[in-house]
Amino acid sequence: MNNIPKDLLEDLKNQAVDWAYGNGLTMIKKPTEEEIKNQQVIVSHLPFSLLPSQFDQSLYQQSISLAQDFNLLVHYLSKDFNYIQNTLKDVQDDFTQSLLNIHRIIEKEGIKQNISLGIFRSDYMVHNHDSNVLPKIYQVELNTISSSFGSLSSKVFELHKYLIERNQLKQYGYDINNHPNNDSCIEIASSLSKAHQLYIDNNNLLSDHNNDANKNIVVLMIVQDGERNLFDQKLLEFTLWNNHKVLLIRRTLNDIYQRATIDENLNHCLKIDNYEISVTYFRAGYTPNDYHSQKDWDARLLIERSYSIKCPTISYHLVGAKKIQQAICKQGVLEKYLENESIQRLRQCFTGLYSLSKEDIDKETVAKAIANPNLYVMKPQREGGGNNIYNQQVKESLETMNQDQLSSYILMDKIVSVPFNASFVRERQLIQTEALYELGVFGLLITDKDSIIQNDQGGILLRTKTSNSDEGGVAAGFAVIDSIIFK
Ligand code: ADP
Ligand code: MG
Ligand code: MG
Repeated sequence: MNNIPKDLLEDLKNQAVDWAYGNGLTMIKKPTEEEIKNQQVIVSHLPFSLLPSQFDQSLYQQSISLAQDFNLLVHYLSKDFNYIQNTLKDVQDDFTQSLLNIHRIIEKEGIKQNISLGIFRSDYMVHNHDSNVLPKIYQVELNTISSSFGSLSSKVFELHKYLIERNQLKQYGYDINNHPNNDSCIEIASSLSKAHQLYIDNNNLLSDHNNDANKNIVVLMIVQDGERNLFDQKLLEFTLWNNHKVLLIRRTLNDIYQRATIDENLNHCLKIDNYEISVTYFRAGYTPNDYHSQKDWDARLLIERSYSIKCPTISYHLVGAKKIQQAICKQGVLEKYLENESIQRLRQCFTGLYSLSKEDIDKETVAKAIANPNLYVMKPQREGGGNNIYNQQVKESLETMNQDQLSSYILMDKIVSVPFNASFVRERQLIQTEALYELGVFGLLITDKDSIIQNDQGGILLRTKTSNSDEGGVAAGFAVIDSIIFK
């Protein structure tokens, strides 16, 4: 698939850049100091892979089929208040402890809204370090809050379809029949709409809302100030409107703190700026940087106390902790929550995960990691990329951190993929590079107390990164959005 002539590659790149700008495959560029001063906002195309990357169809099917198992796992774990509190109690950071505090307050006061919405993304890498062993997929992590790129991923699949068909690339090995559709944007919008409709139906049963009042009921997206991945969010907003006629408003945690209220006389519904909120969908609030002061924490608590459907609830959020990912690998834990068949499927995608907590630090593996730091990754309780520790620093950290510091991390086997050649397009430039990828599978879950209303996979995201970078942030400039073509 690498024998495309240079001039055709350049032509494809130009077609792709125009397509990207013409179809909203865009993001806001990090401003220079000069641009900040002049209040300029520059939009550039999303960094993307020029053509789809080959992916093994059976590994793809396997990862897709795990979505429902992970959804159920999050659901059952989220019901287990004590397990969450106990597992995370030693994670020594203020952020996790503040989330746990809200979790305790809500448990004590009682949950106002029994319906929950989950838009999750389980990320996998292909482990194929040894050519004598069949490649496997291993889970990198499960995101339960702010799982992003659902919309722009759909767009990149469309872009690649366009390029392949328009330029008859079958002769170079790109057969459109091997290029799946990816409806992640449509699927995620559809789940948001379902949750919104459930809210309205229940509201009508509970109170004397009339149709006019329903008109002011909207989905609320909690956003960061100056979000650069704006168009991924906007495309979802447009799809929610176009396909379902559901309005989505954007507010920051600070807006919530300043102006939102809970109407005690009306089922504890959440109100802001003359709107009533059906679903609060967090695209912020996953990192300590989103909580600038106690006010932002107060806003999070206010939302959690309200009757709006949360995506995610505080318990769904906490279940996505990396410490929980490690803890549930231990024998006997999954057995408490899931059927045998589910457990078998899930265990196949778990790589080695080891505790560094006070209570049960895995000393044997720590010694192995000090001897062979390149085989492991140390991960703190953080989201958003750029926080992990690799290579020689694993050794140094394990040797120098005290037990309290170590408790905030987990240790994980490094997943090793064989690099391949890829063409990235960044800032209108074609870049040839050695690359690796990470496949994300969206999981969509709607539950009402114990009953499961929706449990589906919601499409995929392929992020491809240069093979010499340990982490693959798209915004950080290492990764691009990609699509898959079956081998
Ligand atoms: P975050 O929540 O910050 O995205 P991740 O667990 O996804 O945290 O780690 C960030 C990145 O680090 C991943 O996208 C992947 O590139 C790399 N990474 C994480 N865990 C592993 C692992 N076990 N082996 C190899 N690379 C990993
Ligand atoms: Mg994450
Ligand atoms: Mg990640």
